[in-house]
Amino acid sequence: MTRELTTARLARKQCLSSSAQCFHFEFVLDELKSFQFTPGQFVSVVDQDPNGKEQTRAYSLASAPRGNRFDLCLNRVEGGFFSNRLPDLPVGGTIQIQGPLGYFTLREPITDSILVATGTGIAPMRGFAQWLFPEDGPDRSEGREIWLVYGTRHESELYYHEEFEALAARHANFRYLATLSRAAESWTGLRGYVQDHVARIVEERAARLGQPLPVPAPDAATPAAELHFDIHAYICGLSPMIAAVRERLKAFGWQRRQIVTERYD
Ligand SMILES: Cc1cc2nc3c(=O)[nH]c(=O)nc-3n(C[C@H](O)[C@H](O)[C@H](O)COP(=O)(O)OP(=O)(O)OC[C@H]3O[C@@H](n4cnc5c(N)ncnc54)[C@H](O)[C@@H]3O)c2cc1C
Repeated sequence: MTRELTTARLARKQCLSSSAQCFHFEFVLDELKSFQFTPGQFVSVVDQDPNGKEQTRAYSLASAPRGNRFDLCLNRVEGGFFSNRLPDLPVGGTIQIQGPLGYFTLREPITDSILVATGTGIAPMRGFAQWLFPEDGPDRSEGREIWLVYGTRHESELYYHEEFEALAARHANFRYLATLSRAAESWTGLRGYVQDHVARIVEERAARLGQPLPVPAPDAATPAAELHFDIHAYICGLSPMIAAVRERLKAFGWQRRQIVTERYD
């Protein structure tokens, strides 16, 4: 883990949702030739608040490694310090970052994977998707089934929706399930909470593969590090959602190490 601060220059900013005040940011690290990180990691943004106190906030990298550039995705939080400072940053303005940091990364070898996000929890999932299915290089998904279950309240809060739809159209093993908890009548897609769709994916997959559910418990003598799984879940967002998904997966007999999480709160 590096404690060094690096200057990142804002090259592009795009409002993804005006109602949710969510923004996509593209930064360049002019001091570096390339910015090496593992998809899913985060950077810490460091700045002084109006009282001169140093503040640090974590933001997931919303892209796969791409030269000396990286993307972030964040929404304004009422009364929040950083989440308002960043959207107000003009293009050409700079921030100080530490990192990359964190262990919310794809376990290798790649297995079937259920990516689960709500809100800006989609940020690391975009990094995973770009890395697994690069536009300009070989597919890294190894033919595994990859589901992205993305939940939010309203359609206007589905960030990067067209990108994921286009990716799903190009890759038969990438399934994009966007679900709304407060959908307008005109919404023809999925409704309800992410945990219900995750449960359905697990049940249908087990039925298709002829696997029992709940999964039989592994031999208690096997050290945790030696357990191998053919499916993982990667869950990112606020803790109530993470707990709800985790509970459903545990009820299916899933082991702790199969469930990889990143909490934003
Ligand atoms: C590993 C990690 C990665 C993260 N990645 C992202 C990311 O990619 N995009 C992103 O938007 N956020 C992300 N976050 C959350 C982010 O770090 C900040 O907490 C968030 O932007 C609010 O910061 P702030 O300075 O504006 O608010 P603060 O000044 O810290 O808090 C102001 C008030 O808002 C509340 N609050 C803080 N965070 C939230 C929240 N997320 N939702 C609702 N209320 C909140 C606080 O409890 C407080 O009452 C991540 C957090 C972690 C730990």
